[in-house]
Amino acid sequence: MIMEGTAIVMFSGGQDSATCLAWALSRFDHVETIGFDYGQKHSVELAVRETFLGALKETYPEWASRLGQDQLIDLSVLGEISDTALTREREIEMTDAGLPNTFVPGRNLLFLTVAAAVGYRRNAKHIVGGMCETDYSGYPDCRDDTIKALQVAVGLGMEKRYVFHTPLMWIDKASTWDLAHELGGAKLVELIRHETHTCYNGDRSTLHEWGYGCGECPACELRSAGWSIFVDRKPNWSFEPSKQTEQ
Ligand code: ZN
Repeated sequence: MIMEGTAIVMFSGGQDSATCLAWALSRFDHVETIGFDYGQKHSVELAVRETFLGALKETYPEWASRLGQDQLIDLSVLGEISDTALTREREIEMTDAGLPNTFVPGRNLLFLTVAAAVGYRRNAKHIVGGMCETDYSGYPDCRDDTIKALQVAVGLGMEKRYVFHTPLMWIDKASTWDLAHELGGAKLVELIRHETHTCYNGDRSTLHEWGYGCGECPACELRSAGWSIFVDRKPNWSFEPSKQTEQ
């Protein structure tokens, strides 16, 4: 059933948010996307956003009719104030706080707040994000409690009812591939495989079965491990011929 109203999807160009976008398009009658440029080293993620959106519209005309504007918002201040392996030239490692130094403090808090502010102007009640605390990197701003608390705070602070949707919160990476398959079939899985980007190192030179990436960073490891489980459950899965060394 398609719900009335506008949903804003925080679409980064990665696997998770691409799956969330498909989820929103299968539920809401009008969907808009926003992305954030925060000085991330792997800005290739932002570059694939438009390609993915174009391919999605072409492949799914019904979704194209519900997909509205896309907005890229400059949050470079986040890159300026944070000292992390995603925003500076740093090796990825664990910090004394027990978190990987890929954690960008305040990132999801800021993203959700800005998304809600955009939603205020565009009269959108629903904000959709790919946060997940199932097999995640331990980021505290991906936790369900954080998102729920922020939903309350933002709703109070803007005096507007928002619902923050996190369809991936309780599923693992393999089930995220499953969800894409359920929502859009093998074509969507192939689209996500080829046209989204997750790798922290911004590597688009090698196409693996699970998509492009260095294959070694934590984001690639999560994505590839999830993919292996996904295909193991689908023994008859057939791949499109690999498009090697694109871009
Ligand atoms: Zn990688």
